[in-house]
This record gives sequence, structure tokens and C-alpha cells, in this order.
Amino acid sequence: MSMNKNENGPMRLRWPIEDVVAFAKRYALTHGLLCLVPDNLDQATMVPFSLFPSPYSYSHFKFIWSIQTAYNRLYNRVSLDDDVLEKSLSSVIPIDDFIGRLWRIHRTVPRRQPIQLDIYRNDYMRDTKTDKMRQIEFNTISSAFAGLTGIVADIHKAVLRYTLDNCHVRELKINEENASSKSSIDLILPNNALTKSAEAMVKAFELYNNPQACILFLIVPNERNVCDQNALIDAVQKMQPNIRFYSKTFEQLNDELEYDEKTFNIYLKPSHDEVAIVYFRAGYIPDHYTNEKCWLVREYIEQSRAIKCPTARSQLAGFKIVQQYLTREGIVEKYIHDKDVAGKIRSTFASMFTFDDEQMRNQYIETLRQNLHDYVLKPNREGGGNNKYDDEILPILQNSNENELNNYIAMEKIRPPVCSTCLIKPNGKHLLHVECINEIGIYGTMVTNVETNEEYINEVTGYLVRTKTTDTNEGGVATGYSVLDCLNFN
Ligand code: ADP
Ligand code: MG
Ligand code: MG
Repeated sequence: MSMNKNENGPMRLRWPIEDVVAFAKRYALTHGLLCLVPDNLDQATMVPFSLFPSPYSYSHFKFIWSIQTAYNRLYNRVSLDDDVLEKSLSSVIPIDDFIGRLWRIHRTVPRRQPIQLDIYRNDYMRDTKTDKMRQIEFNTISSAFAGLTGIVADIHKAVLRYTLDNCHVRELKINEENASSKSSIDLILPNNALTKSAEAMVKAFELYNNPQACILFLIVPNERNVCDQNALIDAVQKMQPNIRFYSKTFEQLNDELEYDEKTFNIYLKPSHDEVAIVYFRAGYIPDHYTNEKCWLVREYIEQSRAIKCPTARSQLAGFKIVQQYLTREGIVEKYIHDKDVAGKIRSTFASMFTFDDEQMRNQYIETLRQNLHDYVLKPNREGGGNNKYDDEILPILQNSNENELNNYIAMEKIRPPVCSTCLIKPNGKHLLHVECINEIGIYGTMVTNVETNEEYINEVTGYLVRTKTTDTNEGGVATGYSVLDCLNFN
């Protein structure tokens, strides 16, 4: 395990591991690392987490941190470039009803709000083949866990203090040049994802310029990840105590959303509160739109004066086929003019291909067939559990017609370094001393005026670490594959 050694020799755990687990669980429950129980929304349970921070290369982390504001700008600009959006999505718009609908909403409804609020999360794994950080995906909608990731850093600091003799946990600042010259064993980076996301929301609210207006969280029915979302509400209300918040599902909004065709404002019934910001924590998969009225709600929101996080165009920019399109020559450079920075962004691109090019299709299929374990087949879907791995790939290659195959992006499989850690899960299903890999998400926020190109806020705000056992292909905490973690830099 990562905590076995330091420069002064082997580290001694002061207590049996069971005691440490009990301590960590109590801490997690007390400090709100919680989600609701699926079949009983009156009860909360802890979100799975790792007992100790995972060891990680500071230079690799710092690299992805350093390029995030450029990445923010890249995705913001892509979302504004209809030509690139259309070209990159053209093969899926006709065959994917979900993307097609979003595209049509984007193209047909007028824009009544120049302010765009984006809360992004850019996910990476460290690739052992090249020793480079490779992007897994760029999330533009519902970038979850900013409200909980900071709690994990606090748990780890407390656990280390509790467990280890002579442990001095030092907080690292990202601009500290050389983490390897550390004198203490543990360097834990503070995480500002929550407060900074709240700051961006407050800035957007101020730009909307109606202090009486409210903020609407669009959520899924039976939402479980309420502590994460409420942490954001609390953080905004700490800065602006008078802002009112509502959490509503699409179906509730069918009845409760009012759209004023003269002012283009939206209001909530029965309070008649004007909505300044719609923050989407739903709407990223087809199942969230249970009937046509839900799509109508989306359309009203899109054409309203409310600030959307995200807009339809920004959501479209986050589809994985756009990620693949950005790897083509000259696309990144179109928006990022500093060659050095563009090169750094490019260095995070894994090899990816699609099947829409008739001349290349058969060759790509053959490449995949012969290297099933070296690729992941990814459809343009969000929320985890959608990708195909290993032996699942062959039947898709065999049974899909051209159109069906065009729904997938093939992506080189990234193989991160393995570390040993302890995964703490509800109901005592802990995994102690198991081999794991990490996925690192970097949060970024943007508040922009898309008509004047003014950037009010463009910041890198924090990070998310998700850790899973090496025998798990998929990721995602809500889906049960991985646990929340934090980093101990070396
Ligand atoms: P989603 O939008 O559903 O989260 P992702 O692209 O993040 O889609 O894929 C889900 C999970 O699959 C990731 O969290 C990661 O664990 C795994 N994964 C995705 N792409 C790769 C890849 N190229 N190499 C290795 N694992 C991957
Ligand atoms: Mg995603
Ligand atoms: Mg993901």
C-alpha cells in the first residue's frame, strides 16, 4: 500500500486496519460524504471512497491542471462553431434520435441569452505505454461530484493523522515548483471545485441582472446524489444568501414551467419566480426525456432568456464523436493559437477512430478484430455503463450494419499504473489491499458572453479522483464501479 514507506523508513499504522476503516467511515458519515439509498429516499448511505489517498505523479497532475483553462476555451469555442459542430456530428445526427433532437433544438430556436455558464470536467488516465496523460472524455453537462470531492481530501487528512506516527499532513499548493522536495510524507492538494463552481454560478446570476430571480436545478426523478447537489446550493447561498433555489424534474416542469412569449422569461408556478439559471443535472441521456413534453420543456428553456448550464450547443460539443473530431489536423489550432499550448492539448489525445469513412471502415474493423483488448468501443452516451470492452466488441462488429457501427467511436484502451489501496463501500463490502487504477477529472468553469467573446471567468477549479480495481472496465461512482479518492503526490 502507498502508505507503507516514507523517506524515513517503513511507516507504522498505529491501529489495526479494521479500526482505521471504522474511523474513516464515521468521519465520512459525519462530514456528509453521502447519497440516498435507492429504495428508500429518506435514508442516506456513504458514497464509496478509498481509505488512503493514491500515490500520484505531481508533474503529470500539474500538467493537466496547467492546460485546463485552454481546454475550457477550446470547448467553449467549439460549442460556438456551428460549422465544426455540424461536421463532427454529421454522421450521427441522422441515425441517433437523441443527438438529432438536440441538434434540431440548437439549430431552430433563437438565442435570447448571450451569457453562457459552463461547469466542465475533463477526465484523464495516465498511460503507461507513453507515460502521458490521456483524455478519457470531456464532460460539458452534469459534471458531478464537485460537492463531495473536497470531503474526501478531508477524510484522508484525518485518516492519516489518526493512523500514522509522526504524520504531518501538508497541504500542497499547485504552484509549488517541486513536490519531490517535500519534507513531509503527505502532500494533499486542497480542492476548490465546489466554491469555484459556486462563484461561477453567482457571477452568471449577477449578469442575468434580476436579484429577485431564482436558480433551477433540473434533476432526475428519485435523485440520489442530493448531497453533491445541495453542497453547491449551500456554497452559492453562502455567497448570496437571498438567491432561491428549486430542484425539479422534467416531468414536474411539464406542469410548473411558464414561458412568457413576449419577454422570453421563464417562471415557476405557483411562486411565479423568474428563473435566472437552469443548471442541468438531468437531460444527458434519452431516458431522462420520458415523453414529448419533456422535450418541449427543454425547447422552452433553450429559447428563454434564462442562462443555461449547459446550452444545447455546449452539450453537443461534449459528445464523444466531437472529441474524436478534434484530433483531426488543424482543428485545435483553429481555436488555440499558441502552438505550444495547442501541442500540449494534442498530447492528451488518445488514438480514436470512427467507422463513417467508407474507404477506411473495413480496415478499422479488421484492426479492432485483431486487437480486441486494446480498444474500447464507445457510443455517444453519458453516465457510465455504455462502453463495450474485450469480448463484447466482436459481436458488435459482426452484427451491426453500417449505420449502427457509426454510433461508436473506437478508442485506444489506456492502461494506467497500478497502485494498491483499500476501497470502503457501504454494507461492509470493503476491498482491502486491492490493485487499483485512477482516473483524474479536472474541473473548469467558464462564464462567457458568446456574442462579444468576453470571458468573465475561465478557471481551473479543482479535481476529482476515481479509483477502481484493475479488473473493472467501466468507471463511475454512481454506477458503483469506482470510489472517490484523493492524491498523495510523489
Ligand atoms: P461516460 O460519459 O459514460 O462516463 P467515459 O468515456 O468516461 O463515458 O467511459 C466510462 C468509463 O470507461 C471511464 O470512466 C473509464 O473508466 C472507462 N474508459 C473509457 N474510455 C477508456 C479508455 N480509452 N481506456 C480505458 N478505460 C476507458
Ligand atoms: Mg461523461
Ligand atoms: Mg466518464
